[in-house]
Order: sequence, then C-alpha cells, then structure tokens
Amino acid sequence: MKIVLKFGGTSISTAKNIRKVSSYVHSLSKQNQVVVVCSAIDGVTDDLIQISKFIQRGNKEHANRLTAKIIARHRQLAKETITKSQNKKKLLDALNSDLTELEELLHGVILLGEVTARSLDYIISFGERLSIKIIAHALLDLGSKSIPLTGKEAGIVTDSNFGESRPLMDTTRLRILRNVDSLLSKKIIPVIGGFAGADQYGNITTFGRGGSDYSATIIASCIKADEIWLMTDVDGLMTADPKTVKNAKVLKEVSYAEAIEMALFGTIKKSSNEN
Ligand code: ASP
Ligand code: MG
Repeated sequence: MKIVLKFGGTSISTAKNIRKVSSYVHSLSKQNQVVVVCSAIDGVTDDLIQISKFIQRGNKEHANRLTAKIIARHRQLAKETITKSQNKKKLLDALNSDLTELEELLHGVILLGEVTARSLDYIISFGERLSIKIIAHALLDLGSKSIPLTGKEAGIVTDSNFGESRPLMDTTRLRILRNVDSLLSKKIIPVIGGFAGADQYGNITTFGRGGSDYSATIIASCIKADEIWLMTDVDGLMTADPKTVKNAKVLKEVSYAEAIEMALFGTIKKSSNEN
C-alpha cells in the first residue's frame, strides 16, 4: 500500500516519542510505500508566534531569550534521539544551518521593527523545517533511507494569501508527483513538513494553525495514496480533552456532522488560547 502518515507535535515532543514514531515508520515501510508528514515539535509554532509578538512590541530581549530556548531544545532533542555519532553530527550540522538562517531572519525583522504577514509565515515555517530533519535522521539511525523535505521543497505551491493560503492544485500535483514518487521508487522515505508551502514567487506561505493535516491530505491526493493516517496521541475522538478532563472517554461512534462540530470547537479553543 501507499500510505501517508501524519504525526502531530505531541507525538514527536520527546526523544522517546521520536524513537517510537520512527521505529513504527521503519517497520511499516518494509511492506509499504510510506510518506511521513509532520508538524513542528509541540509548542514550537506557539513560541515562534510569541517571538514575532515580542519583536512587534520592540521587546528584543524577550525575543532573543525565546529564540535561544528553541535552539537549545532542538539541539538537545537531536543529541538525545540519535545514537550513531555520524548521524548525530550530520543532523546537528543540518539544524545549525537552519537555526543560523532563523537567527539572521529574526535579526533583520528586529532591525526593521515590523513583522509583515509575509515575514510571519517565513518565521513560523521554521518549526516544521527543524522537526523534519530530526525525524528523517532518526529513520537513518534505524537503517532506513530517508530525506527531509519542507512543503516548498516537496512541491506545495499556494496562492500568496499569507497566513491562510490555499494550494494551487494543478501545479502542486505535478511537482509533488515528480518529487515524492521518485523518492518512493528508490525506497527512500520522504519526511515532509506540514503547514507550509510557497507561492509562485518562492515566498514561504502557511495554511493557518493546525494546517499539517491539510498538507497531508494534499500530498496524499497528489500521489494517489491508498490511505492517509492522521496519527495522534489518543485512541480516537473523545468526549473531552483528556489533558483537562481526567475521565474523558473514547467515543465508539460519531456522525460526520458531530465530528465536524467537535473539530470546529477544538480549533476555536486553540486559536482563542493564543490571543
Ligand atoms: N505547527 C503548526 C501549528 O502548530 C501546524 C500543525 O501543527 O498542524 O499550528
Ligand atoms: Mg494539529
């Protein structure tokens, strides 16, 4: 089967979780063609948004402190997750080059003193840019062949509606097919960053919060996947958020309309928490 597997931020939030996810993908890929789509590490997108808010308010010190936290967190995760020293070095080099670009970008935005919708998308796309490198190297560590690709590198082309872009499917379909299918035929597992793509001029765009599920469905449609699995850290739709409500239960059956209503409430809760 050709399967697209999407992992959210909490599924990859610790070295233990990343190893669990990668050994699952590693074994699944023995019998199937697997494409991984992942979110940023849990909380990183929120931190990047917070950094932009600090910059907008002229609070350079807080912005720098939070940036240092993101850098330390990814380096630490890389060191804890990867066992082979050669792979660890390769990963740290890859992360360093992204982290340097992030620092330069933030420095530029601090000098300008303003965060446009376009620069915000560029900034918040770094969460997935970093997480895909860690997951792909965790797969390499297990002996799988794997390549990390950002949404832009994979071929997701969107309109220029920064913050809530929509894919241009005709172009996207051609590019994703070419880039992703060629990796699958070489038995390489593509690890693609969700949430972001690029417009026709190459500017980074995002689909809006929680957009990695959307990326996974776009990719699955383009490569005509047999199935798409949106993996999460609970066993199904539940009566409430188990982090808040201790005795929340998995629902045996829900109608399509009920599922949509619940998903909508989840999204509203998430975005109102951020403001
Ligand atoms: N990382 C993005 C967010 O936190 C996208 C996603 O997780 O689906 O909204
Ligand atoms: Mg999500």
